[in-house]
Amino acid sequence: MNGGVLIEVKIISKVYGKKDNLFIALNDISLTIPDGATVAITGKSGSGKSTLMHIMSGIDHPNEGEVIVNGKDLHSLKKKEMDRFRAEEMSFIFQAFFIEANQSCYQNVALPLEIAEIPSRRRRTMVEKALGRVDLSEKIDSKAGDLSGGQKQRLAIARAIVNKPQIIFADEPTGNLDSATGDKIIDLLFELNKKLGCTLCIVTHDDELAERCKIRIQVKDGEVVSMTGRSVSKPKTKTTTRKKAGAKS
Ligand code: ADP
Repeated sequence: MNGGVLIEVKIISKVYGKKDNLFIALNDISLTIPDGATVAITGKSGSGKSTLMHIMSGIDHPNEGEVIVNGKDLHSLKKKEMDRFRAEEMSFIFQAFFIEANQSCYQNVALPLEIAEIPSRRRRTMVEKALGRVDLSEKIDSKAGDLSGGQKQRLAIARAIVNKPQIIFADEPTGNLDSATGDKIIDLLFELNKKLGCTLCIVTHDDELAERCKIRIQVKDGEVVSMTGRSVSKPKTKTTTRKKAGAKS
C-alpha cells in the first residue's frame, strides 16, 4: 500500500462522441482516496459522478489518465485480470439492485464467489455469514424476487460484502427506497466500514448521507470543484473545456 492510499486517480478524462458531437464528461480529474475512508461523490445530475465512479472501478475506461487501485494500474490489466481483480477487491451496489429474481438468495450472494473461483464447499459458510450481517439468514433459500424492496437492497449488500471487498462502490444506493429503509441501509454500510474496514465510495444526491462521509468530492461539469477531508491534487494540465453534446467548436 502506498502510504495508506487505496485509489489514485491521475489526470483522467472521459470524452463521449466525436467531432461536433464531442462531449467531455470528465476533464483532467486527479484525486486520491485513502484506505478505509468513507467518500461521497456529489453533484447535480449529469455532472459526471457515475462516470467518475465507473472509471475508478474499472467498469468504464478513461480516454486519458490512470487509475491505480491498491498499487495496480487498473486500466492496463487484461480483461480476465481485471475481472478477477474486481471480483476479489471491489463490489458494487446500484440503485436498481440487479438481483436475479428467479434465483434463491443463496445463489445471488454466491455469485461473486463463483467469479473469484472460491471452492464451492467454502461458499456456503461465506454466504451464511454475509446474509447474517444483513439480517436475512432465514431467507437463504427463498426466491430473491419474493423479498421486499428493503430486503432486496440488503441482499444486494450481502452479495457486495460476501468476498470481504476492500472497496464498496455504491451508486445512489437508497434511491429506490423509502427514507426509513434507506437510513437502515446506510447505517449498515457505515457499520461495514467500521467493522470490516471496507472503503466506501458512494455517489449520492443526499446531503445528509454526504455529511456522514469523511471525504466529500463535489463534481460539476466534469470537474472536481471541491474536496473536503483528504485529498485532491490540482489537475496538472488543463487542456479542454467541457462542451455540450452537439455544440459547435
Ligand atoms: P451523473 O452521474 O452526475 O448524473 P453521468 O456521469 O452519468 O452523470 O454523466 C455525465 C455526462 O455524460 C452526462 O451529461 C451524460 O449525458 C453523459 N454521458 C454519460 N454516458 C454517456 C454515453 N454513453 N454517451 C454519451 N454521453 C454520455
